[in-house]
Amino acid sequence: MSWTDDRVATLTKLWADGLSASQIAAELGGVTRNAVIGKVHRLGLSGRAKPASSSARKVKTAAARSSNSYNARPRALRPTGRTAPSVPSRPAIEDIPVPVSKKILLEQLTDKTCKWPDGDPSTDDFHFCGNNTKEETPYCEYHCRMAYQTVTDRRRVKRAANG
Ligand SMILES: [Zn+2]
Repeated sequence: MSWTDDRVATLTKLWADGLSASQIAAELGGVTRNAVIGKVHRLGLSGRAKPASSSARKVKTAAARSSNSYNARPRALRPTGRTAPSVPSRPAIEDIPVPVSKKILLEQLTDKTCKWPDGDPSTDDFHFCGNNTKEETPYCEYHCRMAYQTVTDRRRVKRAANG
């Protein structure tokens, strides 16, 4: 009689189910109770499989837990690197050259001129930026950034999240 994989599997299962060696021998057929006990010992199943497997599971879980926390540790150790990649790629308003105001008046404004007001409206010195507008906005790039800073920031965050 040889221990085929199937028979070993059956033995292991029945042992785990709590059957006695003689019951397993009867179940398998063609094998003595002593042979079953011998095989059980050789397989390292001695000591009932149930408590053995549950303690094995406990060990495994503890190992998994400790390996998880081990993996998590380097991540927790570099909180400063987390924000670094997004910040340099974002041009701050300081990076945009401040436009030289063309000092145009209200009646000189067109679709193509920046409508950013400059100065005190109650004085003669009051004027508009007047530089070329940026795309669909009423402002030049610099004043557009001033006006829509929050919006563009939000868009950037969204774009960063998508890409
Ligand atoms: Zn402007």
